Amino acid sequence: MSNVEPHPAETVCVTGPAQGPTHELLVGRDVPLGKHTVVNRTLPHRDRRMVGAWCFVDHFGPDALLAMPGMRVPPHPHTGLQTVTWLLEGAVEHRDSLGNAQTITPGALNLMTAGRGIAHSEESPSDRPPTLHGVQLWVALPDAETTIAPRFEHVTDLPRVTGPGVDVTVLLGEVAGAASPARVHTPIVGADVALAAGADSQMPLERDFEHAVLVTTGEVEVDGVAVAPGRLLYLGIGRTEVRLRAGTPARLLLLGGEPFGAEIVMWWNFVGRSHEEISQAREDWQAGRRFGLVHGFDGDPLPAPELPSVRLRPRGRSR
Ligand code: MN
Repeated sequence: MSNVEPHPAETVCVTGPAQGPTHELLVGRDVPLGKHTVVNRTLPHRDRRMVGAWCFVDHFGPDALLAMPGMRVPPHPHTGLQTVTWLLEGAVEHRDSLGNAQTITPGALNLMTAGRGIAHSEESPSDRPPTLHGVQLWVALPDAETTIAPRFEHVTDLPRVTGPGVDVTVLLGEVAGAASPARVHTPIVGADVALAAGADSQMPLERDFEHAVLVTTGEVEVDGVAVAPGRLLYLGIGRTEVRLRAGTPARLLLLGGEPFGAEIVMWWNFVGRSHEEISQAREDWQAGRRFGLVHGFDGDPLPAPELPSVRLRPRGRSR
């Protein structure tokens, strides 16, 4: 996924410690992604920049693709982050500058670690299923590991935890002792939770993590708060469990992690620590350096937008 806003904006955020359990219902904004796809972006949000190391939450669909070309995001670069692509329906073709070509389908986790730099394209395959529904999430890498070697993981053996009316797939980190094999760099959790009609379940949480819930299908009552699809409910820190209730079948993503220790600069598709770092990444992409080539995509790479006229400044986790 790429941030294709012509003038990527910065939101002003000041680091503030999480106080404890809370409810903050964050409504996303529609952002066009290429010509034919619109995503709902709940992070970064004016009122909250990060949840643990999670720094970007895009939810797309369910979109009917029968009469549409589907997703088409030309080659673009990333630095300093991991991208998590998780589909509920449909298929996306991933190609990257390490030479990976992978059709992403529901049930498999696609984790691309950009580190010092990678480029990729994302598009609906020609023989695509009729519906596309999924998320793309970004995870910021910690200070010591922002420039690690890029890699791509396609993980199909994700652990599941089930209970009455609840079926949890662990994408990153650990839930109830079941750990995902996907490689992460900070204490973090990401899980897809499917709830049956009438489900009433207590989901165990890590007390030292802050958490949020993104509802993807149906409506879920999260700790007593009704959350509609596309809304992100920030839950704060210091909880050992959260109650999830659904009247009809529903799905959600649980996102959490240790509050991120560093202030980051996030601009376009780059996560860094300084204006200079971001500016250099942009220059390298424009000059065809560092990121390598994506083979097999029929079209030109995405040009980087102009840097804003003001210096980019590091920002903290919350407003
Ligand atoms: Mn991308």
